[in-house]
Amino acid sequence: MKKILIILLIVLITGCGNKEIKKDENNEKEEIKEEKSLTVEDYKNNSVNELGEVPIMMYHGIHNKKNSDTEYTGGNVDKDGYQRTTESFVKDLEFYYEKGYRMIRLNDYVDGNIDVELGKSPIILTFDDGLENSIKVTGLDDKGEIIIDPNSAVGILEQFKKKYPDYNVTATFFINGGIFQQEKYNEKILNWLVDHGYDVGNHTNSHVNFSNVDSTKSQEEVGKIYKLLDKIIPGKYVNIIALPFGSPYNFEHANMPYILKATYEGKTYETKSALRVGWKSESSPFDKSFNPKFLKRIRAYDNNGQDFDIEMNFKLLDNTRYISDGDKNTIVFQTSMKEKLGNTYNKKIIEY
Ligand SMILES: [Zn+2]
Repeated sequence: MKKILIILLIVLITGCGNKEIKKDENNEKEEIKEEKSLTVEDYKNNSVNELGEVPIMMYHGIHNKKNSDTEYTGGNVDKDGYQRTTESFVKDLEFYYEKGYRMIRLNDYVDGNIDVELGKSPIILTFDDGLENSIKVTGLDDKGEIIIDPNSAVGILEQFKKKYPDYNVTATFFINGGIFQQEKYNEKILNWLVDHGYDVGNHTNSHVNFSNVDSTKSQEEVGKIYKLLDKIIPGKYVNIIALPFGSPYNFEHANMPYILKATYEGKTYETKSALRVGWKSESSPFDKSFNPKFLKRIRAYDNNGQDFDIEMNFKLLDNTRYISDGDKNTIVFQTSMKEKLGNTYNKKIIEY
């Protein structure tokens, strides 16, 4: 009997002891966390620069269907570089990762919400034209979920999601009236995308050239897609437009106000950003030159390191890129950059 009591006592004491140790461990961790708040040395060692530039990559098709009247140039399918080979797209994704880029959502960037770990840089992926090879569905599984071709853009992105969980894989897809050209699956695809960390935006109903139409047609082209998205994924899409052909080229164009805000069939839409075609990286959302309503993109193509291809742009970015301090609530930059500071989104400013 005594022996049992002694064992019970030991168990009780040890049990209590463990709890206390755990408490102590938690306290220690909290203390360590506080001690680890970043110093100027950390900013210097990581070259933190949250007034640096951010690449918004522009992709269209991802496939290897060689066109008879064009030749591959590097990883391009067509000579203008709007279509990219599957192998090159995989290489691009490896390249960005190796270079220390981590993906963020376009919508978050526009909102000044950049959540990237210390010393890393944000990158944004966009895909235009709602092509079948953006997200090719080969059938449905037992649960009725779509099965995605692993060689389509999303299929490849999903593989990278598994390979590098810290890459924060995401992208924004800009659709026309044909959605992803897969009538049977279009609605399922849109729902799948927004449920799996991707975004969907507007590329106009018929891929219109805004420079060639009037304001009424402009409103119809924009409004129809918002209406379609409202029907299929209400409240889950982004109010961002990728301008077909990058037109209008000038923010002062007469149709621009109708692209940004107008009423179609009794419903008012508001577009927070319009994306251009080409040619280089955009400024930090905290830079005073930042105009979220008219954003530049980098055409994801190869041209021997010239004419603002991927290689050229990322060389330029080596000196100008946004480098995070790992805290999305602060804006950290060197004092010499101070005059570039614009919208602070009510964040804490730290100069060093
Ligand atoms: Zn397009």
